[in-house]
Amino acid sequence: MALVIEGLSKTYPNGVQALKDLSLTIGNHMFGLLGPNGAGKSSLMRTIATLQDPDAGSITLDGIDVVRQKDQVRRLLGYLPQEFGVYPKVSALDMLEHLAVLKGVTHKGERREMIEALLNQTNLWNARKKAIATYSGGMKQRFGIAQALLANPRLVIVDEPTAGLDPAERNRFLNLLAGIGRDVTVILSTHIVDDVRELCPRMAIIAGGQVLLEGAPNEAIAAL
Ligand code: ADP
Ligand code: ADP
Repeated sequence: MALVIEGLSKTYPNGVQALKDLSLTIGNHMFGLLGPNGAGKSSLMRTIATLQDPDAGSITLDGIDVVRQKDQVRRLLGYLPQEFGVYPKVSALDMLEHLAVLKGVTHKGERREMIEALLNQTNLWNARKKAIATYSGGMKQRFGIAQALLANPRLVIVDEPTAGLDPAERNRFLNLLAGIGRDVTVILSTHIVDDVRELCPRMAIIAGGQVLLEGAPNEAIAAL
């Protein structure tokens, strides 16, 4: 997997320039995007996830143009947004079943196998029949990961996933991400230095819509 971002700029209609000629290349490893609130991390993530277009610049995922070939890119990536929004009253099992049907997994046995594996991986098997709306914050985040992985993605991007989690849930979530990071590339956006230090062999520090520093966490964080 190679994600190549070149010269990305974005100014919102209110005049805020969230991304300023940002360039970054991400390869096969868990990659941390560390930066304060307002740095531009979510804007960058939404752009990679094909949910918003840049004013200038380009992004390619394994050579596919993220801005112009959105459908193709969407099949290759899973996205856990910062605000996952409204939580359904249906169970995790029903929701994943529904999403797998939408995704075109027509064979019932195949769907069941896929969903069982995901529920086990995210430690939600025992809660699979409960409404997602009743889940704790950590369980909701883990459900978000199950949903992101359903597409069998090459790249998973997660935006501030540990915000609001208690320490036990945070650890559980980071362990889950570490496991996923062994199979697919994960981009972790966060303002929490320790999240990146614990998980990511490579990272970039983002501020003011630009990359300030890039490298291994120990070097990059020490250089701050
Ligand atoms: P973050 O916590 O990453 O800074 P934001 O609060 O910037 O997230 O963004 C949360 C949501 O609000 C996003 O959907 C974003 O598009 C929207 N948003 C953020 N800032 C503004 C703004 N100044 N005007 C309009 N929408 C905004
Ligand atoms: P981060 O995720 O690092 O907190 P964001 O990308 O959410 O950064 O925000 C970068 C800047 O852009 C902030 O000043 C934020 O208020 C602004 N912003 C984000 N989304 C929007 C939006 N939809 N409309 C207007 N301004 C926005």
